[in-house]
Amino acid sequence: MDGCIFCGIASGAIPAKVLFQDDHVVAFHDIHPVAPVHVLVIPKRHVASLGKVSPDDREMLGHLMSAVRRVAVETGVAESGFRTVINTGEGAGQSVFHLHVHVLGGRAFPWPP
Ligand code: AMP
Repeated sequence: MDGCIFCGIASGAIPAKVLFQDDHVVAFHDIHPVAPVHVLVIPKRHVASLGKVSPDDREMLGHLMSAVRRVAVETGVAESGFRTVINTGEGAGQSVFHLHVHVLGGRAFPWPP
């Protein structure tokens, strides 16, 4: 989508520290990490948020969650534990309107946050 920074990263037009990618998703390091591990996983196809997915997006969502686990394994936090966050809508703190999962690890995460 024109003007979408994460579409730019997905297409390679905007540089990012990419951990891995496949036909469906890209995993890259957050530019402003809030934990020792802070990776974003996005679908390559533009979907504005979790609030905008349709039943047709089920396969894409499976790819996204599977990639989250791969991030945890490749960054070494699968065993120690990791937090996943999907901010949905401005009121929840979403600032980039292209669906993304934050994968956070390498420190303790209090609950409730
Ligand atoms: P959210 O507030 O949930 O929409 O998260 C957006 C995240 O994208 C923030 O943590 C930003 O630091 C991150 N971000 C924004 N631009 C870039 C970029 N060019 N490369 C990597 N991460 C980015």
